[in-house]
Amino acid sequence: MKITHASHLSNDELTAELSRLARCEREATAALIVHLAEFDARRLFEGPGYSSLFKYCMAVLHLSEDAVYNRIKTARAARDYPVIIERLESGALSPTTVRLLAPRLTPESHEELLAAASGKGKRAVEELLARRFPQPDVPARVRKVPSRPVASAVEVAPAVAPAPNTCPPVVRGEPLAAAPPAAAGAKAPPVLPVPAAPRPVVRPLAPERYEIRFTASAEMREKLRLAQDLLGHAIPSGDLAQVFDRALTLLVADLSRKKFAATGRPRRSRGQSADSRHIVAEVKRFVETRDERRCGFVAPDGRRCDERRFLEFHHVIPFGAGGKATADNIELRCRAHNGHEADLFYGPGKRRMRINGTGSGTSPHSESRSRPLGGQASTDGGRRPANP
Ligand SMILES: [Zn+2]
Repeated sequence: MKITHASHLSNDELTAELSRLARCEREATAALIVHLAEFDARRLFEGPGYSSLFKYCMAVLHLSEDAVYNRIKTARAARDYPVIIERLESGALSPTTVRLLAPRLTPESHEELLAAASGKGKRAVEELLARRFPQPDVPARVRKVPSRPVASAVEVAPAVAPAPNTCPPVVRGEPLAAAPPAAAGAKAPPVLPVPAAPRPVVRPLAPERYEIRFTASAEMREKLRLAQDLLGHAIPSGDLAQVFDRALTLLVADLSRKKFAATGRPRRSRGQSADSRHIVAEVKRFVETRDERRCGFVAPDGRRCDERRFLEFHHVIPFGAGGKATADNIELRCRAHNGHEADLFYGPGKRRMRINGTGSGTSPHSESRSRPLGGQASTDGGRRPANP
């Protein structure tokens, strides 16, 4: 069965179907990992001419490099701790989070650690591990990056058998038991090396400590040298972390001043016409603090959006409907929710027309202007958050 569109579904049907498909995908992933563990133990990739399970999965199963890496690590962990499979099925854990947890699992602690990580995403699990297993600071350093090596090619062989057009029903394997003892003469399943995944750019090391890595241009390197020289008295060591901390403090203050009118010496507004759409600095500062510098949209189930990027000032009662640029009527919204509020107020057709037409797609209405913070507010309608 090939499904190429879902446009015939109602919103409720589409939401329900998406939920069902996500559950099917979790179950299929758990089943794949059960079978992968067994396939690995029997070393069945060798017969078809592959030196590792990793290469087999890429070439024959057509899994992506990241997917293979996470699934093999998870399959090997699940052989020792079968409870992982149940948690994958329920969605409490993912192959990515299991891969992060795997090196820290022990027979004594695995249940508690898996429970603590359940329901958490990759970043939250990285933070959890950094708290439980703190690592020392990494030394600050600047090094010349070698020219990028050519990635080792992974041979892509024709599939062993033509893939059937339809996905068969998911067949659950037997519950994983700890690896059985090898029969006399049989090869013990060795742990094959899996190519290292790219290291994250921001990696928690310990509570309140992070490793941050990036590649800089020669121009930026020169600016860094200049800053180190200028800070020679304040930071004699030229410590990179201290230099960047100072630079970022200045940058954040500058951006906050531009976007939220933040200032250490606020002055009272001189007032303005009540029917002006302009938002005075005093109101911007008040709204920024009240809305905690993040989107103030609250869903019907009470969940508040946590987006902090692409924030816009939003008129609760649209300007075009008489809404004023006052603290009571201005709230922060992310770009998506500014548009969503517009759909709620004006109906969905207006925004779609803008998306398909020439507009930015975020404002519904000829007089509404959806601008990032620092510009004028949009005039979308919407609801007040229950918990601003
Ligand atoms: Zn939002």
